[in-house]
Amino acid sequence: MSHALNILKEVFGYPAFRGQQADVIEHLVNGNDCLVLMPTGGGKSLCYQIPALMRKGVAIVVSPLISLMQNQVAALNEVGIDAAVLNSALPVEEAQAVEQKLLAGDYDLLYVAPERLLTRRFLDLIARTQLALFAIDEAHCVSQWGHDFRPEYRQLNVLHARFPDVPRIALTATADDVTRKEIIERLALDDAEIFLSSFDRPNIRYQIVDKVNSKQQLLSFIRAEHLHDAGIVYCLSRKKTEDTAAWLSAHGITALAYHAGMSPHQRALNQEIFLREDNIVMVATIAFGMGIDKPDVRFVAHLDMPKSIEGYYQETGRAGRDGQKANAWMVYGLNDVIQQRRMIEESEAQAQFKQIATKKLEAMLALCETTACRRVYLLDYFGESVTFAACGNCDVCLNPPDSWDATIAVQKALSCVYRTGQQFGAGYLIDVLRGNQTMQVTHWKHDCISTFGIGKDLPVKTWRAIFRQLIALGLLTTDNDGYGALCLTNASRAVLKGRQKVFLRQQREHKKSLQKKTVC
Ligand code: ADP
Ligand code: ZN
Repeated sequence: MSHALNILKEVFGYPAFRGQQADVIEHLVNGNDCLVLMPTGGGKSLCYQIPALMRKGVAIVVSPLISLMQNQVAALNEVGIDAAVLNSALPVEEAQAVEQKLLAGDYDLLYVAPERLLTRRFLDLIARTQLALFAIDEAHCVSQWGHDFRPEYRQLNVLHARFPDVPRIALTATADDVTRKEIIERLALDDAEIFLSSFDRPNIRYQIVDKVNSKQQLLSFIRAEHLHDAGIVYCLSRKKTEDTAAWLSAHGITALAYHAGMSPHQRALNQEIFLREDNIVMVATIAFGMGIDKPDVRFVAHLDMPKSIEGYYQETGRAGRDGQKANAWMVYGLNDVIQQRRMIEESEAQAQFKQIATKKLEAMLALCETTACRRVYLLDYFGESVTFAACGNCDVCLNPPDSWDATIAVQKALSCVYRTGQQFGAGYLIDVLRGNQTMQVTHWKHDCISTFGIGKDLPVKTWRAIFRQLIALGLLTTDNDGYGALCLTNASRAVLKGRQKVFLRQQREHKKSLQKKTVC
């Protein structure tokens, strides 16, 4: 039996390696660099913990979160491994004691926050000890395009410059191409072997539904499928997390809020209750989640659309880490699209950043609007060659949406945008299309234009879905100003001129009412 397998059994108490763990461990033990891309819950930690025990000296583990490090060290200590944390929260005397033990060679693993590691003092200190390896956890934190960006991570290439002979392992659960390239470049990992695991989480059922009344929809979803389950609900704003948690609580669901604006004490308390109890719904901003290792989270719900597929995948990935059935459920509507576009537009970032953010958002929109399997789309996005066309465990596979020839309705919508001067949002345009003589409409004399009332045949809900999909498809854009006014794009002209047909996803409600009509 190999030495690594022995350690896995004897020290960690597991019978066999998972996925690529054995290969990664062998590679690292032999002194080579590597980049490990593995989904959340895949078992990344053992990839460096076992080599840390097999190689001489101490393994230095860089991790962005204090709580994460403390949990890991506690777990290691429990199985009898000498590991410690060094971070800024530690009192000076304790930090000195850790440093002394480090110099004495007492540790197998030492976890450090990046800002600590980068100090001259610390680098000089580890230069005086034997180093087994460097592990850089959550390596996607080097990427300024992701929401976990940590500027200090970018300087971690000093490790390679200063200790070229010490092997490095970088690990992340974020696998898109841009991030991967950025990690390699920023951490100088050009010669590293890449270990890419499948990112499929077959036990997670993906569902994306039209937003009508999100709180009510959430409540119905929880009541129907997750009464007494632990779950996470993501919202964009701090206020919404609190409102939603209060609302759920008032309706008999035990819910807590979590966001960066709360006091550290309250945050820690809520997190602790969520981890300890087994039926808490945590309503949170994306500030919540990294490093939360709760295996039995049965659902992750999004009340607002994430700004990228990486975010969506990472957040939904917190469901079902125990491998049991779990739901990733999201409501999505026109305002999500407009709001996300506006956030990019209004941000003070450079043009290049905005461009990448827009691309990421477009991919996210396409996932929402796809009429093909969600899982296939997700895996394809992460560059995996998928061997199936339909997974059988997402809403599209289970209940395929119909598409309809919406060319005429789309022409009406686009022409209405044009005739009203490309200065209005979807709500106003729908008023004009449906012939509502509101004060605003009469003020602008849009009750006198040719598109006034030409869309009476379709309900407001359908028009909203049409506008949403037109934005997702790039046939309309909100890019030109920050206020949600819709403008035509180059692509929309072909449709307006009748040179191109447009097929849209049928709305469930619309589908139902159509069916009812045919029955009568
Ligand atoms: P990640 O960091 O990739 O999200 P972890 O390293 O935290 O994942 O591992 C997730 C869970 O799987 C942990 O509870 C860990 O103990 C367990 N685990 C990892 N490797 C194995 C294995 N080979 N056999 C059984 N359980 C494992
Ligand atoms: Zn599917």
